[in-house]
Amino acid sequence: MDDIPAPNPGLVVLAGAGPGAPDLVVPATTDWLSRADVVVYDRLINRDLLRAARADAELVYVGKSPQAHALDQQRINDLLVKHCRGGKIVVRLKGGDPLVFGRGGEEAQALRDAGLPYRIVPGITAAVAAGAAAGIPLTDRRCASTVTFITGHEDPAREASSVNWGALAGLDTLVFYMGVGNLPEIARRLIEAGRDAGTPAAVVERATRPDQRTVFATLSALPEAAREARVAAPAVIIVGEVAAIGERLAWTERLPLFGNTVIVTRTRTQASKLSRRLAELGARVIEAPAIAIEPPEDFAAADSALGRLDAFDWVAFTSPNGVEAFVGRCAELRLDARSLGNARIAAVGPGTADALRGHFITPDLMPGSYTTEGLGKALAEAGVGGRSVLLPRADIATAALPQMLRQAGAEVTEATVYRTVRPAALPGDAAEALQAGRTHWITFTSSSTVTNFLALAGETDLSDVKLAAIGPVTADTLRAAGLTPTVTADPCTIEALVAAIVAFEQ
Ligand code: SAH
Repeated sequence: MDDIPAPNPGLVVLAGAGPGAPDLVVPATTDWLSRADVVVYDRLINRDLLRAARADAELVYVGKSPQAHALDQQRINDLLVKHCRGGKIVVRLKGGDPLVFGRGGEEAQALRDAGLPYRIVPGITAAVAAGAAAGIPLTDRRCASTVTFITGHEDPAREASSVNWGALAGLDTLVFYMGVGNLPEIARRLIEAGRDAGTPAAVVERATRPDQRTVFATLSALPEAAREARVAAPAVIIVGEVAAIGERLAWTERLPLFGNTVIVTRTRTQASKLSRRLAELGARVIEAPAIAIEPPEDFAAADSALGRLDAFDWVAFTSPNGVEAFVGRCAELRLDARSLGNARIAAVGPGTADALRGHFITPDLMPGSYTTEGLGKALAEAGVGGRSVLLPRADIATAALPQMLRQAGAEVTEATVYRTVRPAALPGDAAEALQAGRTHWITFTSSSTVTNFLALAGETDLSDVKLAAIGPVTADTLRAAGLTPTVTADPCTIEALVAAIVAFEQ
């Protein structure tokens, strides 16, 4: 059987996963990941990248830790050959670039020998990533015309070292991979071979990740400085005049939220904007969805209102979720934006307004303060007396808004278009960061995120964690639970929430 070639040979894509940050990957890699039947991945890759794979893709971990090889190279090669022969699209995902200290060459050779097709997609290699993230130009017209990548893994004390220390000592920028353990030997060898002991140098640990660290020192002082700082792999050692430039251009570690771990409690779909903003400012972000959105148990009441949309004078939305659920149900009922007829549209705030605009609906009214109370007042001022108002909302929406509107003389119809449910548990990384006391901030963007998150967090002590609330109502819900909001956004927007956290950290 083995001799009969498969009619449909697969393909192996050797792809670089970059240095760790999930967005430092070329689009070709993400593309292939989304098409892969099998993903064979290493230890140093960011697991978030695997989300790009199809839900039914087979994920195979072949992580090599410096101590133990989970699967030796021969078995990895065999695995790639086997899946490829089976007609599978295989992505072989490797940290950094697949061909820089990554044994990608050996894997490609194994495929070549087996007569199987492969492609190679580059990735950002650790040296290049560390340079950018630490502000160390690897070459510089003023002081460095060459840059050399060297493995520091090889025992430099070994007689038959294939590293030519004499030659290296005379070159400009040197970047050592896998060298943390051998740093004292590397420094000693270079100085013995004639490199100035006072040459600027740096170790960049976990470059581009939220816990990146850079230690600068002269070549002779670097081993001690790195030992004191307990620098550990993965890290690159950069030796050369350019390291001195890095001391001035360092930027990552100076970002306003650098060093902060923030748990973002929102629905999965909403979290991305807040998370992205916090991550851009240097925070390590862990998403902990505290609310899952589900259809209501029963659409009957909502459907009867949606069926006569143009009979309403106003349709008022109190959250982006409400907009999406409303539009989704309308689509299922074969309605479209025109079904709204002449009904006027109100949105509680800019996020909700944006969600509406995304569906070709421009709100006619938005209050100055982005709360349901503000919305009620604004509608009352707009003259809802004697008018009909539809409120498409969540099952748990409070009675405050309809009450205000009724007091203003409106005829209010409430339509439950979605239900919020509590997920079964916190995601593993969030639970871990909480338990280990490694969480600096938790953001809350509604009262239900507070209630659900606290239920999920159980007995965890939050007294040392800073809490950020999107507005006064959410802040009150925290207080009612015996917690003190550290900051409250004003106005109630994601931007203001982020600004409040940044201001607190300054
Ligand atoms: N193919 C990879 C290198 C694999 S060897 C690449 O092109 O980057 C593993 C070594 O890469 C580590 O010992 C460390 O020296 C370096 N490395 C990988 N990721 C790193 C990171 N985020 N920061 C610093 N060094 C890193």
